[in-house]
Amino acid sequence: MALPTHFDSLYIGGSWVKPIGGETSAVINPATEEVIGKAPVGTAADADAAIAAARDAFDHGPWPKMEWRERAGVLQQFHDALMMRKEEIVQLCVAEAGSIVPVASIMQFDMAMDGLQYYIHQIERREFVIPSSVSAHTNWATGGETLGSTVKVYEPLGVSVGITAYNYPFFLNLAKLGPALASGCTFILKPAPQTPLEALILGDIASEVGLPPGVFSIVTGGADVGEKLTTDPRVDQISFTGSDKIGAMIQAQAAPTLKRVTLELGGKSAMIVCEDADLEQAAFAGLINLTNQCGQGCVLQTRQLVHNAIKGQYIEMLKAMASQVKLGNPADPDTGMGPLISAAQRERVLAFIEQGKADGNTLVCGGSIPSGMDSGFFIEPTIFDCPNNSTAIAQEEIFGPVVCVIGFDTEEEAIAIANDSQYGLSGGVFSQDPGKAYRIGMKMRTGGVLINGGGGRLNPSVPFGGYKRSGIGREYGEEGLNEYLEIKVIDFRAA
Ligand code: NAD
Repeated sequence: MALPTHFDSLYIGGSWVKPIGGETSAVINPATEEVIGKAPVGTAADADAAIAAARDAFDHGPWPKMEWRERAGVLQQFHDALMMRKEEIVQLCVAEAGSIVPVASIMQFDMAMDGLQYYIHQIERREFVIPSSVSAHTNWATGGETLGSTVKVYEPLGVSVGITAYNYPFFLNLAKLGPALASGCTFILKPAPQTPLEALILGDIASEVGLPPGVFSIVTGGADVGEKLTTDPRVDQISFTGSDKIGAMIQAQAAPTLKRVTLELGGKSAMIVCEDADLEQAAFAGLINLTNQCGQGCVLQTRQLVHNAIKGQYIEMLKAMASQVKLGNPADPDTGMGPLISAAQRERVLAFIEQGKADGNTLVCGGSIPSGMDSGFFIEPTIFDCPNNSTAIAQEEIFGPVVCVIGFDTEEEAIAIANDSQYGLSGGVFSQDPGKAYRIGMKMRTGGVLINGGGGRLNPSVPFGGYKRSGIGREYGEEGLNEYLEIKVIDFRAA
């Protein structure tokens, strides 16, 4: 199957247009370092054109005013057209983002599609305004009584911008496109420069289902494009997924024009393994948190807090499991862990590993570029036994396959270590006592907690997001849709 890997145009105002400047960049497969395609490089001037189109489509076009049900119908076609291209999209995620096939297929594609379907159902339910009870009110002007009522109406917020990270690109792009378009906003997507293809393919689908011009645009590029999109007064809302550093910049960039900003940021999540845990179950979860997307996942539980009575056994089991993971090209179905996204990311991870050693942590295994793997941005799964939670590798988000195992003696100590973080995205508890696991989970300052590994799949009907430096606002669930909506209350006199 020929993958759609060669693009030279941006999707703006319902048409494919060459970027101003005409620049394209090579798209690299991180497992082979081969050029697999090309993508346009957008500029601030292209972003300006996309904003103009989105503003016009919002202010004068049919999309925001369409009946909820009609819009849901168009989005259902969008959903169904994507479903037809699952195979292609999965292969793109493998080739461009370095995802192994199950991650590309389930985490990137299936979960993204569950989310889009969820938002389509949500807006069907939002067709109705919610009337409050009709009641008599005192009319202070006349001294008599009037009969009045109030209705609450949801309206689209305006021009929405989605800026995304490179790690699960298809999933992240749809997590913004779904609620933005479902709510009736017009939407501009700026994908990460490393992964433009999973975004550009959405332009084909938009044309195919006949989205009105300007409702959806895609502008690739880097920080200059992002800066234009987050500072322009014609944009009303930003939904950003990326690092806390850039998130803070975006909040500042958006402040002068008072945009609504939703931030899905980084994490350094803790997994607490109690003395009574099913050790094999916990260690296997520890392994997934080490190797998923080569450790490039915001929710990965990279601080593994293990009761001192079982810590030695846990480390041995995790190490044995890690040694069985086959590193290689994710296109090979036997591969258990693919590469990092780039040489620069690998340098960053290696620097953290050196820092970890210098700071007195014990390297249990890994820590190097695997021997014989001369091409591709591979790195060994790396386990550190850490005496405490205070060094850089326990505090900073590494975004590579590196976990810190830290011991504890009491439940209170485990909770204190877990919460000793600038982040608060995810968390985990392993115990065979569900009441105890729940009690511990309730004390973790994080947006989500998985008990004994959780259900294994994102549930789009519940909100996702982080405390502290892991973000502001939520995606998914009713709360996720509300980020893209205004609420209007109309109070009227009935009689
Ligand atoms: P990043 O913050 O470096 O970049 C993210 C996006 O921001 C890119 O599209 C980039 O071009 C853009 N950008 C850069 N400077 C900008 C500026 N000044 N204004 C506007 N946009 C700008 O993140 P990354 O390296 O692509 O991804 C890794 C990070 O993403 C990690 O911290 C990870 O935890 C986080 N992440 C969070 C979630 C979540 O849901 N919480 C999910 C996935 C990834």
